[in-house]
Amino acid sequence: MKRIVVLGAGESGAGAAVLAKVKGFDTFVSDMSNISEKYKNLLKKHDISWEEGKHTEELILNADEIIKSPGIPNEAPIIQKLKAQGTSIISEIEFAGRYTNAKMICITGSNGKTTTTSLIYHIFKSAGLNVGLAGNIGKSLALQVATEQHDYYIIELSSFQLDDMYNFRANIAVLMNITPDHLDRYDHNMQNYINAKFRIAQNQTQDDAFIFWNDDPIIKQELSKHGIKAQLYPFSAIKEEGAVAYVEQHEVVINKPIAFNMEQEKLALTGTHNLYNSLAAGISANLAGITKDDIRKALSDFKGVEHRLEKVARVRGIDFINDSKATNVNSCWYALQSMPTKTILILGGKDKGNDYTEIEDLVKEKCSGLVYLGLHNEKLHTFFDRFGLPVADVQSMKDAVDAAYKMAQKGETVLLSPCCASFDLFKSYEDRGEQFKKCVLEL
Ligand code: ADP
Repeated sequence: MKRIVVLGAGESGAGAAVLAKVKGFDTFVSDMSNISEKYKNLLKKHDISWEEGKHTEELILNADEIIKSPGIPNEAPIIQKLKAQGTSIISEIEFAGRYTNAKMICITGSNGKTTTTSLIYHIFKSAGLNVGLAGNIGKSLALQVATEQHDYYIIELSSFQLDDMYNFRANIAVLMNITPDHLDRYDHNMQNYINAKFRIAQNQTQDDAFIFWNDDPIIKQELSKHGIKAQLYPFSAIKEEGAVAYVEQHEVVINKPIAFNMEQEKLALTGTHNLYNSLAAGISANLAGITKDDIRKALSDFKGVEHRLEKVARVRGIDFINDSKATNVNSCWYALQSMPTKTILILGGKDKGNDYTEIEDLVKEKCSGLVYLGLHNEKLHTFFDRFGLPVADVQSMKDAVDAAYKMAQKGETVLLSPCCASFDLFKSYEDRGEQFKKCVLEL
């Protein structure tokens, strides 16, 4: 019997193990850390054996195939040994793809993956299609393939997942953008990261679709180098050569495969970056044959994704917006750019070598006050104090919200878009966003 060993028992690993077992393989799970109760129970239920806190070589190196969780880097000693002996190493998505004929709609990019994936799922689901949400969000694809039947899967793919995909075919592939990210896992070589992103189009045929942002300089430069066979669907904020979807005179226009239009102001998600996300989602739905009315309705009633430009409340005429997921300067740029009124910006946290010059002009144009929220705010003082805006320096979310509330005038907006990771004061960006919302609701 073929032996499958799954490395890492989070959502994707535990799901892959269940599918392997259901398909009759000799299945074993090994995790270097502790496995959570939830996944232990799932493994027990399916009578799958596991180990935790270690990788026992005798139990792993004899595998016929390895399913590797995306969090495990290639440099891990066990991976090096497996590679040296030539064992096949694949991702959970690659494995699950072998056991379903469902249509695969896959989304990657450096920014906007979760929003676009959730929006596409929302449109398909609202149109009454039998659809599953998978990849970095939702339930593992493998678990769904093992236990449910869907006609479509909307799958968010990170570059790490794409690294271990070989024969998987995306019927619709969406590449949102490419900016430097995770380079520590790509030998600090940008080309390696770019190649990983373009793997989303490998195995596509001329019956498939490749949707991408037409104005991304890297995608533009690289497009012809990756042998893409799928039909191309470039989108842009403006009508320009090549773009099949764009905005013209406040109308969202999609030309292919079926002519579609709607008023831009009806889009639920605001901001230029979200226009891109809506265009990519609209094309995907159009390709799946969803009716124009259903697409229009779903693009306008989407509730958004938590912690991404999430409207929290209006308190005495001041809007509070939670963009805790903005953990880099680029995301904050897009957030500020979409602010309709003068804004008090709450920023700070664990700095990842940030260069704030990118948001300098926007801060001058849009901000009426700044709240530095972090254990070490010196860099923020050095960079922003010279703009002469009111500034507060705080070490807790409660103090940040109170300070911002004091600074804000009626009609202004308070935006949490920190540019930084959250680990100095919070457990995660989710924890930071939750605390923000709680403090706002207590005002
Ligand atoms: P990802 O899943 O790729 O991290 P998200 O949808 O979670 O992306 O969005 C993360 C942050 O990136 C958001 O807070 C938003 O400010 C910014 N963002 C969202 N969509 C885009 C886009 N298309 N281009 C650039 N930035 C974006």
